[in-house]
Amino acid sequence: MADSNLLNAADFKAEALRLGAAEAGVAAADTLAAEWPYLQAYLSAGAQGDMAYMSRSPETRCQPGQLLPGVRTVAVCAFSYFPRPDLYAYHPRIARFAQGEDYHRVIRRFLKRMAAYVRQRHPDARCRGFVDTALILEKAWAVRAGLGRIGRNDLLQSPRLGSYLFLGLLLTDVPADTYDRPTADTAALPEHCLHCSACVDACPTGALSLEGAPRLRADRCLAYATIEMPPDGNGRKAFPPLRPQAAGAPPLAIFGCDRCQAVCPANRPGAFPTAVPTPHPAFVPAPGLAALSQADFARLDDTALRERFARSPLRRAGADGLKANLTLWD
Ligand code: SF4
Ligand code: SF4
Repeated sequence: MADSNLLNAADFKAEALRLGAAEAGVAAADTLAAEWPYLQAYLSAGAQGDMAYMSRSPETRCQPGQLLPGVRTVAVCAFSYFPRPDLYAYHPRIARFAQGEDYHRVIRRFLKRMAAYVRQRHPDARCRGFVDTALILEKAWAVRAGLGRIGRNDLLQSPRLGSYLFLGLLLTDVPADTYDRPTADTAALPEHCLHCSACVDACPTGALSLEGAPRLRADRCLAYATIEMPPDGNGRKAFPPLRPQAAGAPPLAIFGCDRCQAVCPANRPGAFPTAVPTPHPAFVPAPGLAALSQADFARLDDTALRERFARSPLRRAGADGLKANLTLWD
């Protein structure tokens, strides 16, 4: 007979899929001891760049009990934004993740509903949701919850979804009746990476490493530079130097960067054991987006950006930031 004090993992996952997740897994909330050396190597290499918040209390990021006292379960839900040019028109200069609604909004709403679901069954439950925050090692938890492995491009590679996915985590102090098994040690590359270096070769800035830690230097990554880096007083950004040998890959984006995903064999339509992933409806390209030209972006001011992209992640860069990014269009 089912123990009513335990979270029924199968029912939880079924509810997550019903509410829009493409995959879900449930991990025991142990300390991430195996991941600590990688995090230390990442921080001591200075790979976090200007994101100083990442180096504050790094131990906390490996101890889920610091984020939710008494936590027993980390549920990980994945949402697809797999680009389907056969279904939708995409803008070639905006990273695929940013062409629909801001995933933070969508996944926060989802996590609230999942927390309500848990509390309906366990009224004293404490829950805390995370979506893309530096406080928690989301990809490591996804590996522990059986969703995939972390590739050479530092992205979670799911056998069913590829790497075009977002993650939402729900921590709760309710223990689950069963936990998923980790697919691998978080340091172990997927098999398809072992004889491949396409992402490293295609990276325009040399942000990815072929071997060792850190896999990705955020301080050299155009995704960071185009989204988080503010322009200087002259409206320019100090982008990391571009490598001429990486030319020939997809064109550079002005918001985010898709090169290390676009070239990855794990995202080719033939790579999937069943169907090619279909993106969550919130993450399909916004109407009219694909037609925006360089001149349209050059004309944007903050008011127009707020109005035109009210629900879009593009707002995060600000109008001045987007205009500074236009130098990458050439
Ligand atoms: S491009 Fe190749 S090495 Fe890079 S993540 Fe994909 S399979 Fe792995
Ligand atoms: S997002 Fe672009 S710049 Fe960053 S690691 Fe991938 S290819 Fe390199």
